[in-house]
Amino acid sequence: MSRLSDYHIHTPLCKHATGEAGEYKDAATGLGLSEICFTDHMPSSGGYDPEHRMPMEAFPVYRDMIQSLQDGGPPPRVLFGIEADYYEGCEDFLREWLPRQGFDFVLGSVHFIDGWGFDNPEERHVWDSVDVTVTWRKYFEAVWRLADSGLFDAVGHLDLPKKFGYRPKEGDLREMVRPALDRMADAGMGMEINTAGLRKPVGEIYPSPELLSMALKRGIPICFGSDAHSPSDVGSGFDLAISLARETGYTHYFKIRQRKKRLVPLPGRGGA
Ligand code: ZN
Ligand code: FE
Ligand code: FE
Ligand code: ZN
Repeated sequence: MSRLSDYHIHTPLCKHATGEAGEYKDAATGLGLSEICFTDHMPSSGGYDPEHRMPMEAFPVYRDMIQSLQDGGPPPRVLFGIEADYYEGCEDFLREWLPRQGFDFVLGSVHFIDGWGFDNPEERHVWDSVDVTVTWRKYFEAVWRLADSGLFDAVGHLDLPKKFGYRPKEGDLREMVRPALDRMADAGMGMEINTAGLRKPVGEIYPSPELLSMALKRGIPICFGSDAHSPSDVGSGFDLAISLARETGYTHYFKIRQRKKRLVPLPGRGGA
């Protein structure tokens, strides 16, 4: 697993993660990761989902917390990122706010459909009263708009709505994903292979092999993220994630600094 980067790590500032930032870094050191990027949930603005993120006043605390881990010591190198939600009307705020923070990486995620936190276990019951296919379609329409906004470096957990096992038919899924991936490719965006799904009811990596291969056909570069909400999550499932990338036909993944991506070869078989 050495040389790999974990680009999706939270901190307790989001109110639903445990362990200090330094403990996440220590876990990465133990695994021999070359880089980690903290991508905590972006601060609440305009009353958006205040329960699952830091208040804006805490953002300087987040920045200082990450900076104190950027000590130039032995690996892992620590990057400063954010998991920024795409939601209706977010553009004005993000366009103004994101570029001023000096982020290395802005991971774009959709967590809400029409105000419903569809991946929140507390709101899971809503899935039983909605049209599953229509819901997925709305989700991917939000991903199109996310890509079209040009504000993000990569899409997080591309097929997140599968978290609890509610899925559209394969053919419908392909048809709704296609335009989202086309727009991501046009925007030069990357995509993460997110291993958190392995720890969720669905028991699968985000995205599925099918969607990953559609992304490869469009030249969309990948990175790896554990979506760690506890230090023991760091790097979890990465062996499976690398196998998935390789079996799909990927040979490279991207590293990023100051929002500039560069491609590096995937580690060799046997963990070189
Ligand atoms: Zn979270
Ligand atoms: Fe997320
Ligand atoms: Fe996350
Ligand atoms: Zn996430």
